[in-house]
Amino acid sequence: MKKIMFFDTKPYDREFFNIANEKHGYKIKYINNRLSEDTAPLAIGYDAVCAFVNDDISSAVVDLLYENGIQLIALRSAGYNNVDLKAVYKKIHVVRVPAYSPYAVAEHAMALILSLNRKIHKAYNRTRDSNFALGGLLGFDLHGKTAGIIGTGRIGQILAGILRGFGMRVLAFDRFPKKEWAAETGVEYTELNELYQQSAIISLHCPLTPETEHMVNAESLAQMKDGVMLINTSRGGLIQTQDLIDALKRKKIGSAGLDVYEEEDEYFFEDRSDEVMTDDVLARLLTFPNVLVTAHQAFFTKEALANIAETTLGNINAYFDEKNLDNEICYRCSTDSCPRKTTGRCF
Ligand code: NAD
Repeated sequence: MKKIMFFDTKPYDREFFNIANEKHGYKIKYINNRLSEDTAPLAIGYDAVCAFVNDDISSAVVDLLYENGIQLIALRSAGYNNVDLKAVYKKIHVVRVPAYSPYAVAEHAMALILSLNRKIHKAYNRTRDSNFALGGLLGFDLHGKTAGIIGTGRIGQILAGILRGFGMRVLAFDRFPKKEWAAETGVEYTELNELYQQSAIISLHCPLTPETEHMVNAESLAQMKDGVMLINTSRGGLIQTQDLIDALKRKKIGSAGLDVYEEEDEYFFEDRSDEVMTDDVLARLLTFPNVLVTAHQAFFTKEALANIAETTLGNINAYFDEKNLDNEICYRCSTDSCPRKTTGRCF
């Protein structure tokens, strides 16, 4: 029976993985600790490890896992920016869950938009304190306004559909525009600068890559409409956070909904409510009444957790049964030279 070490798990992960594992019967060890150079040796004696978004899969960790006989890293996430794909290549196969519920993330982005616009986070606290005044809660009609979506993959397309349903004009930017989909849905592809200049709401849905890192910075913020609402449910590194804070202080940015944060690995997914916050940037962000931070919860629906567990164990199964690894990822996957397209595996 193959043994899998699960890093960085929470009770909800265990609940859904235990159900999915009933038909696979893997010997699973769940631990709370994140994968790091310190914890990698805990995987000695296991065949595979399962990791999440804030686990450290840098070259030093890869070497430790490889030396200890790990054959497979099964990511239970879509994003893989925490993996050193060059270091892992030809040593350990890496599989992921490319899509588990794009609806979950798109709907959370919409929840942030609606909450920020209609100040639901403030109204909730007010009425509990018997404060029924409306001052400061003024929103705007979404109908007829323009939204900009950066990255029209699975999640971006669903959010575009939701926003069209609200009667918004939707502009989009993507490295690979999906022209047929745009024509069918009435979405308009534009250049990035035009999207920045025209959108009342901008939502980020592209992956974090060297090209997209800090794409929202002082320069791009300056191009945006005054009072724009910025939504990020993608990856924190897309935004230069200090530049965002400066723009919030100058009231250039009207509001920001952030489900991800550049330095989230220290705080997100953990209860640190009885500790002093040492991250001054996060602390500053949390002081703005027009900033809504959620702790990387956009994916967090029952449907998504069930899909993540089933796909992850399915990926592990495919590896050990020597089947094609449809969800494998390597640094060559984005080029035509990746052998997976013909041989079913990246190496
Ligand atoms: P996807 O791969 O389906 O779509 C990504 C889109 O971004 C593609 O259309 C791609 O062409 C485009 N893109 C790539 N580089 C670009 C660039 N430089 N400029 C503009 N567009 C570019 O991915 P998805 O499933 O829609 O997920 C999007 C992102 O959401 C993921 O990368 C992940 O980081 C994030 N995510 C977050 C959560 C969460 O819980 N907050 C959950 C799942 C995914």
